[in-house]
Amino acid sequence: MRLFLALTPPPELRTRFGELADLAQARCGGRRIPDANLHLTLAFLGEVSPTRLDSLAHRVRQLKVQADSWTLDEWGCFRSPRIVWIGGARPDPALQRLHSTLWQELAALGFEGGPSRYIPHLTLLRRAERLDTPKLPAFRIDWPYCQVELVHSVTGPGGSRYTTLARSRAVKG
Ligand code: ATP
Ligand code: MG
Repeated sequence: MRLFLALTPPPELRTRFGELADLAQARCGGRRIPDANLHLTLAFLGEVSPTRLDSLAHRVRQLKVQADSWTLDEWGCFRSPRIVWIGGARPDPALQRLHSTLWQELAALGFEGGPSRYIPHLTLLRRAERLDTPKLPAFRIDWPYCQVELVHSVTGPGGSRYTTLARSRAVKG
């Protein structure tokens, strides 16, 4: 089963991110990610044997993620897969820490392959026809978060469908 760890936006931000995805698609073309699928990937696990799910979900439920907020204020793109995304103009130390903590936890469970460099980004478009992001309007959105989710991705003809299998405990403040 295909799994990843992610932050998922609260409903009101999902709508705002969706509006930005519409703006991006109007200018850049390509395939717009549906609102329901908008997320920030923290760790992509790829294909995982279902026999490992219980221990993984258990570990995710034990995680204490410090509540924080991610500021998104920049358009970005990955040229070769023609992905258009939004992220932060400045590095975000809290997200970098969360990323390395998660990969330490995953390594303890025998998962390997954490990337050396993590670029936090929220994908809005895939296969963009024009990477015209400099012409898109300025914005600033603060995304408060306090929980990591373990997500199952099932690829189907109409695109991927995500199901949350476990959530970390919320730790406020
Ligand atoms: P689709 O493949 O239908 O376009 P998707 O890419 O969102 O949808 P998945 O391929 O299951 O669905 O990916 C889940 C998440 O993991 C996405 O955020 C994706 O960008 C990320 N991801 C996928 N493959 C990798 C990879 N090899 N390395 C890092 N992140 C990845
Ligand atoms: Mg994919």
